[in-house]
Amino acid sequence: MRISIESLSHTFYNGQATPALQNINLTFESGKFVALIGPSGCGKSTLLRLMANLITPTQGIIHYNGHDSRQAVLDGEIAWLSQSPALLPWLNVEKNLELAQRFTETKSPSRLSISDALALVGLTAASHQYPFTLSGGMQQRLALARVLLQHAPVWLMDEPFAALDELTREKLTEELLQIWQVQMPAVFWVTHNIYEAIKLADRILVFSPQPGRIAADFSVEMPYPRHENQPQFQGLLSNIRLILQQKELKHHG
Ligand code: ADP
Ligand code: MG
Repeated sequence: MRISIESLSHTFYNGQATPALQNINLTFESGKFVALIGPSGCGKSTLLRLMANLITPTQGIIHYNGHDSRQAVLDGEIAWLSQSPALLPWLNVEKNLELAQRFTETKSPSRLSISDALALVGLTAASHQYPFTLSGGMQQRLALARVLLQHAPVWLMDEPFAALDELTREKLTEELLQIWQVQMPAVFWVTHNIYEAIKLADRILVFSPQPGRIAADFSVEMPYPRHENQPQFQGLLSNIRLILQQKELKHHG
């Protein structure tokens, strides 16, 4: 799967014009883990919503192996995970997944079973619990299991761990990497957490403040698992911080 985004811009018009994205050009492929980092309001969610065909761009194109995003969604090629998972409160963990599976198109020959997916995200023991009895971390695990069952070649993740406490986030980050290495989808991961981006991604895009533009594009060539005390980690951390600060100054100055 090859995702290509060309000359993509988006402006919201409702009473006034809000330019959200400006001239985004980007290509990436299956097996790549791309993180997008930037301040709040810089257009990260807008880009994901455009990629998932939830809104139509005012300019530019998004292609998945040469097909448009509408076709890619119809073909079940795009999985989506947001900050607050939409779980059905009247169904237990297992039934939530059964329902999701029933509505999922997949071309994958090696389809995961629900119990495999539950085991991968560590929820086997909770399979008969209802969503409201789960912690925030467990709810995100359940949402992640739903993504796994979809076998989509593209995963769009909108700050999926942002609402979680630090320790839970760290643990899920490590587990997610292991799961990613099994299915090897193209991941597009939005975050405002620099550490999370460096722990996870092959490639880190830094957005400028609104309207979002690609201010920097880093490739990360460190083996997993990555640790904060590694010199390369620290180097990248300060580079990204610097760019975010410079952009912030320019924006307000
Ligand atoms: P981020 O996810 O980076 O925090 P968003 O993509 O949510 O940023 O928003 C980018 C900009 O577009 C913001 O200025 C936001 O207010 C604006 N925006 C987002 N959605 C809409 C909408 N539906 N109508 C008008 N403006 C919007
Ligand atoms: Mg957002």
